[in-house]
Amino acid sequence: MKKILVTKSSMPDIEEYIGEIKELWETHWLTNMGIKHETLQKDLQEYLSVKNLELVVNGHMALELALQALNFKKNSKVITTPFTFASTTHAIIRSGLEPVFCDINPCDFTIDVSKIENLIDKETCAILPVHVYGNICNVEEIDRISQKYGLKVIYDAAHAFGVKYKNKSIANMGDISCFSFHATKVFNSIEGGAICCNDEDLQSKIYALKNFGIINSEEITEVGTNAKMNEFCAAMGICNLRHIEDDIKKRKHIIDHYTARLRNKKGIRLNIAQEDVISNYSYFPIIFEEGEAGINRDKIYEKLMDNNIFARKYFYPLTKSFDCFDGKYEHYETPIALEISKRVLTLPLYVGLEEDDVDRICDLILEA
Ligand SMILES: *Cc1c(COP(=O)(O)O)cnc(C)c1O
Repeated sequence: MKKILVTKSSMPDIEEYIGEIKELWETHWLTNMGIKHETLQKDLQEYLSVKNLELVVNGHMALELALQALNFKKNSKVITTPFTFASTTHAIIRSGLEPVFCDINPCDFTIDVSKIENLIDKETCAILPVHVYGNICNVEEIDRISQKYGLKVIYDAAHAFGVKYKNKSIANMGDISCFSFHATKVFNSIEGGAICCNDEDLQSKIYALKNFGIINSEEITEVGTNAKMNEFCAAMGICNLRHIEDDIKKRKHIIDHYTARLRNKKGIRLNIAQEDVISNYSYFPIIFEEGEAGINRDKIYEKLMDNNIFARKYFYPLTKSFDCFDGKYEHYETPIALEISKRVLTLPLYVGLEEDDVDRICDLILEA
């Protein structure tokens, strides 16, 4: 039986990639902000309509450098959600800051803005909301709250590459937006990421931070790290970006097919398109709702696996409950996030997933 994984990395034709990397054999310049790095940076600034964009080695380091660049006092609190990938929470803690967990709303799975203000105290320095599955957070309300309390806003935009809200790129939201170009994301550069901000000084600081704080051979202004994107990754990004619009269209087509098949199934709730948002169709989550028709998520997960189909419980468990935290954050009450994490399954979705495969997956779910 054909094996279907939850995702499959987009790649250009091999000739296209070879054409792109060929000149590296002439220049022998493999990393440290070479020509491919410069080209991809420019291409992305244009595609995402942002002025200041720094490429980095991955999405996780984008988050860590964003937090470091904003220079918060040690142990300050950052309001975030537990319904996310490990990276979001780890970045806060690894930066010497304290995560404060806010619940999510059950409609689009992003931070419940009505619960943020209660969590703010004098140690709070920032909000780090996560756009989820290509849905975006309530950016207007987050703006209002951050201004009222003088907080910084750093978006984890790993799921939201290319998403638009009211026809504007979401890369410009908040103080900083962080993207991941990991192999499994809608747009990939094998490994990679970007930090977008509206402030030139902040960008210069991030540029220094990703290269050991080195400004020039005698001027080292920050205790930086090494988070530079290399030329081969940048070249992959350049190629994949040429096909991004087409890729997103194909993903939408697959989601439309899934939706048509599963829409009327009792006990299953689908992700609803947000108003004024142009999504990137990055994931296809389904929620197994409580009630009469209650279908068990884990049973379907296993049934699919028995049929060589690998969906993912994305996101389960909640980050605040990870073993490595030893219960330290369990006191934060996030009942909606908990409920969704037990009921969600993200189904296979990638460019090249065939309609027959989608039908086979849906048949297995509809039998339940
Ligand atoms: C993928 C992802 C990251 C981390 O990105 P990497 O490029 O894998 O380091 C962070 N946050 C979220 C929500 C993600 O999905």
